[in-house]
Amino acid sequence: MDCIFCKIVNKEIPAAIVYEDDNILAFNDVAPQAPVHILVIPKEHVQGIADFDDSPVLGIMFAVMKKLAIEHGLDRTGYRIVVNQGQDAGQAVPHLHFHLLGGRKMTWPPG
Ligand code: 5GP
Ligand code: ZN
Repeated sequence: MDCIFCKIVNKEIPAAIVYEDDNILAFNDVAPQAPVHILVIPKEHVQGIADFDDSPVLGIMFAVMKKLAIEHGLDRTGYRIVVNQGQDAGQAVPHLHFHLLGGRKMTWPPG
């Protein structure tokens, strides 16, 4: 499958992996938008949030993000978790991913 995140899952292209288990992979974004910018993905190829209803894995993904946030000290300063779903949100990679962003002040509303 010609999916960049599946290739990262299969170790066909490198990434700075910060967490891995049987179902989930987390790695640093190649073009970070904040001092901490980690992508958390299901290993299963699903295009977006609407295609993924594996509640146990989603629950673990959030637990992983909370753990990573603590590891980076973001629990003290705050952080943002984002899913860009589809065209209007600007989803560029069609494999579900959560962005964990932190380490700087962020603006709201998003652009
Ligand atoms: P989206 O716009 O789809 O929500 O976010 C896609 C994200 O994937 C972007 O932040 C982009 O920098 C990141 N990205 C795209 N290609 C690669 C890659 O090959 N490696 C890594 N580590 N991140 C990537
Ligand atoms: Zn994929």
